[in-house]
Amino acid sequence: MPSAPSAEVRRRIAVIGAGPSGLYAAAALADSGRPVDVDVIDRLPAPYGLVRYGVAPDHVKMKAVIRVLAKPFDPATVRFLGNVRVGEQGVPLDELRACYDAVVHATGSSVDRALGVPGEELTGSLGSGAFVSWYSGHPDFTELDPPLDHPGMAVVGAGNVALDVARVLAKTADEMADTDVPGPVLDALRGSAVRDIHVVIRRGPQHVKFTPAELRQIGELANADVVVHDDGVLAAGVPEPPERRQKQNIAMLTEWSGRAPQDRPRCIHLHFLRTPVRLEGTDGRVSRVVLERNVVDGERVRGTGEEEVLDVGLVVRAIGYAAEPVPGLPFDTATGTVPNAGGRVLRDGQPVLGAYVTGWIKRGPTGVIGTNKGDAHETVEALLEDLDALPPAAGDVADVLARHAVEPIDWTAWLRLDAEELRRGGLRGTDRVKVAEVAEMLAAARAADAELDPAFSRG
Ligand code: NAP
Repeated sequence: MPSAPSAEVRRRIAVIGAGPSGLYAAAALADSGRPVDVDVIDRLPAPYGLVRYGVAPDHVKMKAVIRVLAKPFDPATVRFLGNVRVGEQGVPLDELRACYDAVVHATGSSVDRALGVPGEELTGSLGSGAFVSWYSGHPDFTELDPPLDHPGMAVVGAGNVALDVARVLAKTADEMADTDVPGPVLDALRGSAVRDIHVVIRRGPQHVKFTPAELRQIGELANADVVVHDDGVLAAGVPEPPERRQKQNIAMLTEWSGRAPQDRPRCIHLHFLRTPVRLEGTDGRVSRVVLERNVVDGERVRGTGEEEVLDVGLVVRAIGYAAEPVPGLPFDTATGTVPNAGGRVLRDGQPVLGAYVTGWIKRGPTGVIGTNKGDAHETVEALLEDLDALPPAAGDVADVLARHAVEPIDWTAWLRLDAEELRRGGLRGTDRVKVAEVAEMLAAARAADAELDPAFSRG
């Protein structure tokens, strides 16, 4: 890192996206020892991104990382500007850019990848991003209303997201009541008729992306059996995989493949070597998913042309995400990321002055929460190396927000919303119950302001 010039002027940096990658970047900037003022901007009134809206509600320990992510919000250096949408329907990026010496984009990968098979447009066919966001109380998905009135559902994919979806649906509503899911979600889960949860995996047991800890959890569910459908490949012996986590997965799956179901109320079926080839429906709603049987061919699989059918009312594809292009930034549609070198945004191979990326929009949707820390450090290091050469910005973000009639939610306001969620949690006998509707979130965040506002109290 270069040494700071004498009498260094304070620099202003925006981090767009208050998920783990953005917050690790904000922390790295705040801890850098350089005189920087950082604004963390998010379109939602609440921080934490995928920790709040992606980590499964029953993974309470994983959410404890929030304590670490909250640290940089010392008002002397890092501010939170929630409820600020950047882009076409909000504050244009170029206007925001004029207020900051550098901008770190940390908006993640929010688009569900498609299977590209017929019938995917039917009601009851959803991406995992939408489904997970719904049960996590994301304001954009409160109206999703996923059909849970059929005894069968399928989740496609062999990553941790597929297991999260399967586990949440396999748990009873009483088990889920002890999490932060919003009241309407808990009501929907209480009314769920789902009994058979089919996890559809295109390759073999040696190829799954699950981590052993997550796989173990579905084997420990009190109210659900796990049945392995592997065409006998485990018994025949799969080739020894190189990684420890794959060996652990295979040991677990091999043990389960010999287990008899215990007649528990729900059942998770792990279907290996099956590719969904089409979704079929009745009256516009998914009623069946048709699978093609595969055989292993080295590290890949080959379709056999043989089909089988699962009767389901819901199909969730958990096959990964892509980033949404950021208007004004270059975008690589093949990788679904912003082209960059170590976090410096590249246009036609050349760095874009003052523009940086971190997290999934930089490297794609991989890794665990902690992966974002090293990633953010790399980006911040690049930014700090460039800082002296970046022209200081002249604009004032308060003016820009006022011009667009945007009233941000600052950290103190978020803490009011946080307190309201904790209060609701107390009423349900859990730690927190999320507020999911934006209007309600804003009302809770601004409650104290409203009390202080004489015009409001008179009204
Ligand atoms: P992922 O780990 O990349 O898994 C995606 C899965 O989808 C793979 O099994 C892949 O199979 C399959 N797939 C892709 N395209 C497909 C297609 N066209 N048809 C059928 N299957 C297809 O993605 P993810 O589950 O979305 O997770 C994203 C990241 O978040 C991962 O790094 C994950 O570990 C992390 N995460 C962690 C946790 C946790 O720690 N508890 C929870 C959630 C997410 P192939 O291998 O055959 O391509």
